[in-house]
Amino acid sequence: MKVSVVKETAPGERRVALVPEAVVKLRSAGAEVLVQSGAGDGAWHTDDSYADAGATVVSRADALAADVVLLVGKPDTAAVSAMRPGQVVIGLLAPLTDPDLTAALAAAGVTAISMDMIPRTLPRAQPMDALSSQANIAGYKAALLGATQFGRFFPLLITAAGTARPAKVLVLGTGVAGLQAIGTARRLGAVVSAYDVRPETRTEAESVGATFIELTSVGPASGEGGYARALTEDERMAQQQELAGHIARHDVVITTAQVPGRRPPLLVTEDALKSMAPGSVIVDMGASTLGGNVAGSVPGETVLTENGVAVIGASGLPSSMAAAASAMYARNISALLLYLVKDGELVLDRDDELQAGVIITSGGAIVHPALTATDSQPPQADTASSRSSPDQPSDQTPDQPDEGATRAVPGSPR
Ligand code: NAD
Repeated sequence: MKVSVVKETAPGERRVALVPEAVVKLRSAGAEVLVQSGAGDGAWHTDDSYADAGATVVSRADALAADVVLLVGKPDTAAVSAMRPGQVVIGLLAPLTDPDLTAALAAAGVTAISMDMIPRTLPRAQPMDALSSQANIAGYKAALLGATQFGRFFPLLITAAGTARPAKVLVLGTGVAGLQAIGTARRLGAVVSAYDVRPETRTEAESVGATFIELTSVGPASGEGGYARALTEDERMAQQQELAGHIARHDVVITTAQVPGRRPPLLVTEDALKSMAPGSVIVDMGASTLGGNVAGSVPGETVLTENGVAVIGASGLPSSMAAAASAMYARNISALLLYLVKDGELVLDRDDELQAGVIITSGGAIVHPALTATDSQPPQADTASSRSSPDQPSDQTPDQPDEGATRAVPGSPR
């Protein structure tokens, strides 16, 4: 069985699906590993390092001809055209937000396996949970971006030249990314508060050092599978209004809120932005072209409001730490591959709950139940393609346009 790694083609993407250490593991399971020349460049893995690990360095065409093609993100159109029936492609394929790609993969007769469809509640799937590994990295980097942009110290400093009070950081959304952002900001010495619409996250947030904020105007909004449900219009407005008071009292706000199958909820309104002190910083991890958690945030840009608040549109954070992100992703994808390999060959079985969760196309058809459902509602499965992630924006329409209050200033968050 030939397993290949092709170079990612999405703009700004630096990650690679396998690192040399993972090549060794797959070879010991009986796979022949091919790596496209230059595939690891963005994550600082040279062709030689893959060859030393036992991989064969090949052209893109040869990599795309392997039995199993490994990717971080989606294959581009040319790659899909190059594929033949019976081949297997594995990556973060976002099938629920990119139905056209799924249809093209099905038409090509490819067996497509989507890492963002891993059922997160199955304990045996945890080592394969690429969404969690990448969200962890994004949360860490978001806290660092906030600290770098902030013109003051995060820790309490007592020096001969005076005393600096610690920064007050607020983290909105305490899932995987939010908890890592809290821990990182705490380790830098900030005083951290946190809020999530799921009250059961309180203990987790407190265990990593945050003071949990409870809103009186919005009740619990826990949904299916450990995720939040979308708020009603009334709840959303009440939440925004009450949050604004808390936001105004903080120096740095990091937003990580996501709702399965929908665009990220707007948590920081223009009014809330106006209430913040000049020099405050917001890191919006939900930033996408369709809007994020913060009014006026622009993905990949830092925007300065009229009253001097920097809004960082923090998209693509895992790629900005490509070495760490690739190492973790490689462990996730290898764990999945090793789960599927028996005696050196890939053996697929859609009666297995885990496999049924990740296989999206097979035998020329779209086979995942969440994709073949006849109703047009966004699926609410406990998986990741059913939601928008920091670097894979949802295809939902934004709640409202977020224009007018901001102006862009040069400088990228990365
Ligand atoms: P996510 O990225 O989908 O969302 C981030 C956070 O935003 C969530 O905590 C959510 O409650 C919150 N949120 C949504 N709307 C909000 C709003 N309007 N206001 C405030 N907060 C809002 O979530 P995630 O990080 O992927 O994790 C979701 C849950 O799944 C977590 O409880 C996590 O621990 C759990 N999880 C379980 C497993 C597992 O069982 N193996 C693996 C990964 C995650």
